[in-house]
Amino acid sequence: MLAQKYVDMLGKKSVIRELSEYAVARGKEIGYENVFDYTLGNPSVPVPDSYNNSLIRLIGEKSAMDLHGYSQSLGIREVREAVAASLNRRFDMNYTLDHIFMTCGAAGAIAHAIRLVTVPGDEVLTFAPYFPEYGPYVNHTGAVLKVVPPNTKDFQINFEAFESMINEKTMAVLINTPNNPSGIVYSTSTIKKLAEILKDKSREFGHIIYLISDEPYREIVFKDVDAPYVSKFYDATITCYSFSKSLSVPGDRIGYVAVNPACPDAEKMIVMCGQISRGIGHNCPSAIIQWAVSENLDITSDISVYERNMNILYDALCDLGFEVVKPGGTFYIFPKALEDDAIAFCGKGKAYDFIGVPADSFGCPGYFRLAYCIETEKVIRSIDALKKFAKEEYGK
Ligand code: PLP
Repeated sequence: MLAQKYVDMLGKKSVIRELSEYAVARGKEIGYENVFDYTLGNPSVPVPDSYNNSLIRLIGEKSAMDLHGYSQSLGIREVREAVAASLNRRFDMNYTLDHIFMTCGAAGAIAHAIRLVTVPGDEVLTFAPYFPEYGPYVNHTGAVLKVVPPNTKDFQINFEAFESMINEKTMAVLINTPNNPSGIVYSTSTIKKLAEILKDKSREFGHIIYLISDEPYREIVFKDVDAPYVSKFYDATITCYSFSKSLSVPGDRIGYVAVNPACPDAEKMIVMCGQISRGIGHNCPSAIIQWAVSENLDITSDISVYERNMNILYDALCDLGFEVVKPGGTFYIFPKALEDDAIAFCGKGKAYDFIGVPADSFGCPGYFRLAYCIETEKVIRSIDALKKFAKEEYGK
């Protein structure tokens, strides 16, 4: 018998994927260069040369077994050491290899983090707007994802709603900063306040409430934006990192779990990840890719294009009278639609080949996301389409 749970999911395709497929199909009709496709968070800037050079050199230098064999189950020791050293250097932490577990991207990291600290029936709280894949990431473990409503004023945390929702069943809080889809970076005061509440509630409920910090956009932070390293503020933090966005390598499937050394049982948790991976098949990320990222830990692709694109879009949206909070990082911007129904709004945008994603599935109806990881010249050309759309449909 087929597993009904997954059969039921077939009718609920990701809105992002559906719109992206629409944009590609439309591109076949009118030329993809004429479709302002803001659907997918697929990094557009090239992989850094030094990453490619590492791959080429590694092929010449290392044995086939080193490059293509199974890696150790927690990740290659030298790679874990290098990751720990880089985090210590950059964020003044004191990780060792015993606090690092190599994963297949942030998705793989979160799959381990949730299983580390929950059993079926436990609750995991996250904050809207949130990455819709958190639904399957959490709910497939048997834990239950609960979504705290958004603070649409500035998209920092809605603490009032959070405090009313946290309860004895809450075992973990899952945050994402810089945030997909809002582009907002949680400030130091937000993280401090969150940590204080988690400390108080852990004491009150008699168990640790873990903070799972999903950080694939950690390096994509714009000029003068305060971007604290979350784990510094709360001992029981499990950081889930990905190189997908910072090095433009989402297809290479590489990231890590880093457990704060001050977290009780931190080293045990990393060994437990090795056991979790046996069950979920997210084990032993590609060895050659582990070696390559270990040589490129402190660099990124040329991500300056994202800030340039953001400024162009932000200014145009403001000029047209959209309500929009200026992003502090990522390659997303998150305006309020020009009518209450963002699905209808984005549907109308298709007639102008301006393709955004309505945010209902991000837990924030009435808003839409533009993923501006596309060429700047296309962003500039898209403004005319946006102006026409706003004028003809909404008299703006
Ligand atoms: N978390 C967030 C917020 C994301 O936006 C993404 C990918 O877009 C992921 C996790 C998954 O990233 P990865 O490609 O590293 O698995």
